[in-house]
Amino acid sequence: MKTTSEESGAAALPNEPEKAPSNFVRDIIIEDLKTNKYGGRVHTRFPPEPNGYLHVGHAKSINLNFGLANEFGGKCNLRFDDTNPSKEETEYVDSIIEDVRWLGGDWEGRMFYASDYFDQLYEWAVQLIQSGKAYVCDLTPEEVRKQRGTLTEPGQESPYRNRSVRENLDLFERMRAGEFPDGARTLRAKIDMASANLNLRDPIMYRILHAEHHRTGKKWCIYPMYDFAHGQSDSIEGITHSICTLEFEDHRPLYDWYVEQLGIYHPQQIEFDRLNLTYTLLSKRKLLMLVQQKFVKGWDDPRMPTISGMRRRGYTPEGLRNFCRRVGVSKTNGTTELSLLEYFIREDLNKRAPRVMAVLRPLRVVIDNYPEDQVEHMEAVNNPEDAAAGTRTVPFSRVLYIEQDDFRENPPKQYYRLSPGREVRLRYGYLVTCTSVVKDEKTGEAVEVHCTYDPATKGGNTPDGRKVKSTIHWVSAAHAIDAEIRLYDNLFTCEDPNEVPEGGAFTDNLNPNSLEVVSGCKLEPSLRGAAPGTGYQFERLGYFSVDPDSSPEDLVFNRTVALRDTWAKIEKKAK
Ligand code: ATP
Ligand code: MG
Repeated sequence: MKTTSEESGAAALPNEPEKAPSNFVRDIIIEDLKTNKYGGRVHTRFPPEPNGYLHVGHAKSINLNFGLANEFGGKCNLRFDDTNPSKEETEYVDSIIEDVRWLGGDWEGRMFYASDYFDQLYEWAVQLIQSGKAYVCDLTPEEVRKQRGTLTEPGQESPYRNRSVRENLDLFERMRAGEFPDGARTLRAKIDMASANLNLRDPIMYRILHAEHHRTGKKWCIYPMYDFAHGQSDSIEGITHSICTLEFEDHRPLYDWYVEQLGIYHPQQIEFDRLNLTYTLLSKRKLLMLVQQKFVKGWDDPRMPTISGMRRRGYTPEGLRNFCRRVGVSKTNGTTELSLLEYFIREDLNKRAPRVMAVLRPLRVVIDNYPEDQVEHMEAVNNPEDAAAGTRTVPFSRVLYIEQDDFRENPPKQYYRLSPGREVRLRYGYLVTCTSVVKDEKTGEAVEVHCTYDPATKGGNTPDGRKVKSTIHWVSAAHAIDAEIRLYDNLFTCEDPNEVPEGGAFTDNLNPNSLEVVSGCKLEPSLRGAAPGTGYQFERLGYFSVDPDSSPEDLVFNRTVALRDTWAKIEKKAK
């Protein structure tokens, strides 16, 4: 199923709940507010595991959680689910903080870590042992898995299941004290080995791991499983609506069991569909492989579906938020067209990006009848969508650069740009007519085009009303600044990068042409010193953003998104 049209209320519309497009999660909250279920409170959280950088799927969750809190005057916490000591790195924590903030998430100082609750979780584990609801099991985690049974067969009860409370307390204490090696024992919940829900078949609560934790250091050598930490963390923080993705639906009965057995505050879990995008992988594990094996330059490579990659590429938080709002939330997983994301980025940049002229692959044009030393400063509109953006001037002179693509010695049918004998308009400049072409003797390629200009057409106007079919962009050769421009294509060649023939790997589907570096590009001089992160529309080419690899003298641009209107294509396809 491809989702392109579902609506969602995830955007921040403070104090205007009735105006936001609704979705089922929002409807539940509205209902709970009506019945005063949580005393009028709305408290959500975004709970990433710091084992990688955030991706656009997380953006959907961030938008939903912070958006709902914002809309209903509630709160949203940022919580790091750092129960797994071997994987977490502070680099990931820092990147997550930066990315959530950039997307507009405001946790108002409520930033927590599941590891903040390790003492409390330990006490709760002891409480469950005391009430006969948990036991120390001497099977290895591997053996526990094997005895779990299948969807059609019940699991086997552990031979250690009926240990006395005293023995369990003693063994658990000694697990904590470091007496046993990794994997020697676990603490398990005593629920039901025949349950139809595999998550309830005496799940592991604690495992032994002699590993240093990024926050608690060497304090612990036993660590709670995610399932034992997650629901209670929500409970401790007083979360009202614990919103997570569909794969946790089957875990909900276990979370419920823990909070009920412990007799603590009970948040409500609501599951929604994960975002999947065509031509894109959204799995931190696989994204990490791309980084580690250097298929990309890093987590923030502009081809990555990470928030940091998208930021570097020039995507805007507003564009991403609009996209998330449009894909909405539902109860069934589907796949969204990547072109829908690009549509929303383009739509947002169209409103805010200043227009400039840049030539990617320059071809020299000499205007033979234009005075040798003359320079005119032509007025150019900065953004036709935004009158407040004003105008600037662009220098015009005798020698210019145009795109190689905008000239053909032998124009095909319907090609209306420059060719011998043809007149075109130079945007904000003059009308010029091509008189001759100089070619490379060996390759036959055009290396220089000669033109004449009509002085009566300054600014691109035609006082006699004659029509020219084409307007092309240009840059004055003497004033141009050089730049490197990086063009991006999809990172994968097929819609579902996970689809690989027997024995293959998802990396086989990588697009060898996902990055094209074009150097020697020519930019209009107003771009001198443009700051990294600034976005522009290069007229007729697309949206481009200054890459942090730039220095004031050597600019590097990323193509954020091309201009073509894929939305029209999507609509056509949908019909
Ligand atoms: P991955 O599978 O990419 O490693 P994850 O689910 O393990 O993702 P977490 O750090 O645990 O990543 O996710 C934090 C929150 O973001 C969770 O609530 C999770 O449900 C949500 N989330 C993760 N991926 C997506 C996605 N593709 N679409 C929507 N929400 C997502
Ligand atoms: Mg996870």
